[in-house]
Amino acid sequence: MPARVIIELVTKTAEQVWFEEKARAAGFESGGALARKHGLKPYRIKQLYRAATKELAGEVAQISVLSAELRAALIDDGFALESVEPVVVQRSNDRQTSKGLFRLADGSEVEAVLMEHHGNRTTVCISSQAGCAFKCSFCSTGQAGFTRNLKAVEIFDQARFFARELKTRDKKITNIVFMGMGEPFHNYDAVMDAVRLLNDPNGFGLGHRHITISTVGLVPQIDRFAAEGVQVNLAISLHAPTDQQRSAMMPVNQRYPIGELMGACARYVTQTGRKVFFEYIMLAGVNDDDASARALANLMRGNLYHVNLIPYNATPDAELRGTADVRIRVFQKILEAAGVPTTVRVPMGRDIAAACGQLRAETQPRAHEAAVK
Ligand code: SAH
Repeated sequence: MPARVIIELVTKTAEQVWFEEKARAAGFESGGALARKHGLKPYRIKQLYRAATKELAGEVAQISVLSAELRAALIDDGFALESVEPVVVQRSNDRQTSKGLFRLADGSEVEAVLMEHHGNRTTVCISSQAGCAFKCSFCSTGQAGFTRNLKAVEIFDQARFFARELKTRDKKITNIVFMGMGEPFHNYDAVMDAVRLLNDPNGFGLGHRHITISTVGLVPQIDRFAAEGVQVNLAISLHAPTDQQRSAMMPVNQRYPIGELMGACARYVTQTGRKVFFEYIMLAGVNDDDASARALANLMRGNLYHVNLIPYNATPDAELRGTADVRIRVFQKILEAAGVPTTVRVPMGRDIAAACGQLRAETQPRAHEAAVK
């Protein structure tokens, strides 16, 4: 049997991933052990899964298709639909952005952000790790260091939280971006399981094309992702067009320099036929001069690439300044004149510190200082 078929046979369904992780979170050694103890037949597990991921029930007690006895017994055993507990939820003054700080079972904290754009588009930005190991100079999460990988359900439940909130206003999540805390490709398997949970037509049901994974540029994982055969969007945090500039901002560039990274992106486009999005954070005097724009245009030339220029969200710790809007426009014009499709990200939620890692940094000053030392 070819290797690919074998891999597909052992891949768990979204429902299996969900039930297994929920059972373990309740202290059982496996989903099977929980099912045996409560005599849960497969259709019961399906009912639980659907209630949590499709109907978005608040808690086990509200799942009326289950008998009151079964609900009570599951609750007694610590079985819960939520694996992330909101600690703080802030809404921006314009009410378009809500940011949540969530506590996980072990006390780790992660952030997720809901952005309600004009029209009906709603994007939720979720975290894949508590902390981050990559230490990009401009990012608050990186400065506080790495805590741990998130489980697939812990990633998924951030989306579930906001989906439930939106439902009270008859709205839905239309897009998910893995642009919160952590490096998704450094927690590859759990992130792909979370994608399965988000996408499952029998559950949450969000189309692959509405999901974007953003990476610092881990070359082996980009190749692996290209081979997955999923229509999920890929975004690369490029941020600088030369190795010298990029290594100064992103230590990962020493491991995977721009030449290797662009090689992986080209292979991805060839293999998938899909576009790659490049994120480029605009920092005054660092990467926003004309020469940088031309060098960036050269890297982008002739391929299915799109540049997203990102106004910098000032973080308390970094001594960096964002590029002025007029200068961003000049930079964009140079790229467009070279034929590179370029958009400028609209900043949202600045009044609630909605950039990566900022809320956690504000609420945990001591943990943060300790990590910097
Ligand atoms: N580790 C992944 C995903 C998390 S960061 C990655 O690096 O892509 C998501 C995006 O937010 C990245 O492009 C990151 O560079 C950017 N970012 C981090 N800090 C920022 C800040 N202070 N202002 C604007 N964008 C920021």
